[in-house]
Amino acid sequence: MASAARAPICRFVSEPILALEAALARLPDAAGRVSGLRFKDGAASLVVDVGGLSAGQRTGLEQAVRGALAEVTGVAEVRIVLTAEKVERTIIAVGSGKGGVGKSTVAANLAVALARAGRRVGLVDADIYGPSQPRIMGNSARPALAGKQIVPTESYGVRMLSIGQLVETGSALAWRGPMAASALGQLIEGDWGDAEILVVDLPPGTGDIQLSLMQKWKPAGAVIVSTPQDLALIDATRAIDLFRKMDVPLLGLVENMSGYACPHCGEVSDPFGSGGAEAAAKVMGIPFLGRVPLTLTLRRASDEGVPPAAGDGEEADVFAAIARRLLERLTA
Ligand code: ADP
Repeated sequence: MASAARAPICRFVSEPILALEAALARLPDAAGRVSGLRFKDGAASLVVDVGGLSAGQRTGLEQAVRGALAEVTGVAEVRIVLTAEKVERTIIAVGSGKGGVGKSTVAANLAVALARAGRRVGLVDADIYGPSQPRIMGNSARPALAGKQIVPTESYGVRMLSIGQLVETGSALAWRGPMAASALGQLIEGDWGDAEILVVDLPPGTGDIQLSLMQKWKPAGAVIVSTPQDLALIDATRAIDLFRKMDVPLLGLVENMSGYACPHCGEVSDPFGSGGAEAAAKVMGIPFLGRVPLTLTLRRASDEGVPPAAGDGEEADVFAAIARRLLERLTA
């Protein structure tokens, strides 16, 4: 008698769960991401792991799960808790002592080369007062918002965020330090999804933004860009000192605009000298990551928004080699 009375209750409890499980099994994107499925008083509840998904994919998965479960007979409400494992991100700061040495060009091409080497890469344009990554990466798309987070836009396999995508050129110039630092925070804490490396293109010099980055987000290391000229090297030394003082490991130095190959006769001349940065790196005990030649291709490509590291010319090989050395240093 007692077991006959219990039977309908058991069926009532278990059947919707089976139907809910069957509905989830028909969603390939939900495979391995769902746990804690429960059904009580017409409400289906469950946890969906959205780790590693972009904001769009998360919304898509949540909607698909909600839609599938809502169709099961007896379900009046669907409660979904989204969880995401925190991705450990490696921040690489790219700095220089002064402007105009090609730091942004190197940062962009390095990010593209790292992505081509199979890494999931984000590029943060931290030059709040003079953003140039939208131009160099050919990416001026306006980022969307996912809740309170800004969602990076992608070009050449690299996700990117720059203040230049969010405000009119020049309008950030009026911002005071705290506002610039808060803007930097919004960029770094954007919705980077499963990006494992963030390349941060710092403003030139040793100001507030550099300090904020180092104090709050602790980069795994810094790359210094310098031309072979002595003057740039003296400036570079200041940037190096700052990273040292803040205990940010120096991953290496890149010598940019090193040697110019004439596009007509092929003769190589050295308008800024050559080898100066490599020699200085040795003296300062910093690894040397490579030399980027001064080429018309690089200059034009930057203006046209096509980073040469994404192509298959000589420059692409140069940046691929620098990215390789950098990855070796990161794992050393
Ligand atoms: P920074 O970020 O140090 O201010 P940019 O990356 O904006 O410097 O570069 C300054 C200018 O120099 C840009 O016009 C860029 O295209 C050019 N440039 C940078 N590196 C090279 C290079 N190796 N060969 C030719 N032009 C370059």
